[in-house]
Amino acid sequence: MENQLLLLKKIQDIDIQIGLIEQETRDTNTDVERLSAEVKKYEDELKAINGELAEIENTKLSLEDELAECAERVKKNDERLKNIKNDKEFKAVTKEINSAKKGKLTKEGEINKLNEKISEKLTAVKEKEDKLNNKKAELKAKESNIETNNENWEKVIKERKEEKTEITKDISPSILKKYETIREKRQGIAIVSAAGGTCHGCHMNIPPQAYIQLQKGSSDLIFCPHCHRILYWNSIATV
Ligand SMILES: [Zn+2]
Repeated sequence: MENQLLLLKKIQDIDIQIGLIEQETRDTNTDVERLSAEVKKYEDELKAINGELAEIENTKLSLEDELAECAERVKKNDERLKNIKNDKEFKAVTKEINSAKKGKLTKEGEINKLNEKISEKLTAVKEKEDKLNNKKAELKAKESNIETNNENWEKVIKERKEEKTEITKDISPSILKKYETIREKRQGIAIVSAAGGTCHGCHMNIPPQAYIQLQKGSSDLIFCPHCHRILYWNSIATV
């Protein structure tokens, strides 16, 4: 039985290693998914701000056209002032000039406000771009990390599984089945050491008789009565 326990312990070590690698792979994939979602979010936000910016710039272009029209009206009527024939005409032209000048001032004011808005949007775009670029760099690093590791991980898992198959040949199928069943129920740990009268899986006391049997080297498997794991006497495995 000691030999069987030793082999089971080796199998468990292999299973733990494989489990850790698989967990690492899952965690890394989750990270990539999270980072991809964040990149997409920043891209969408950036697109929205750029859309708003384009709209403001369009409005500004229309206002600049209108401003040019006002300026043209002022210039044209200034010319007309030089050839005024009578008082009525003078009043009409002056009125037109004043109205055009007023319009020009209003447009200039509106354009200034839009310039402020554009400046704010450009700052927001810059901030968002920085965040996006950082996130993209993080994602790229994670992806290249996966690429480097995957090959290595797959190789290690393959080797360990082959090793496990070899060891399994020397373990009784019923013991192996028990091991697999307990492993599933007990978070991957089916076989634990016992020392000082205590199970190292659940830290509860083992009944004295079972403990003595364990120390003597029982011909049957001995289970912890509390967590139901397979126990082995501490001196068997040092690792
Ligand atoms: Zn226990």
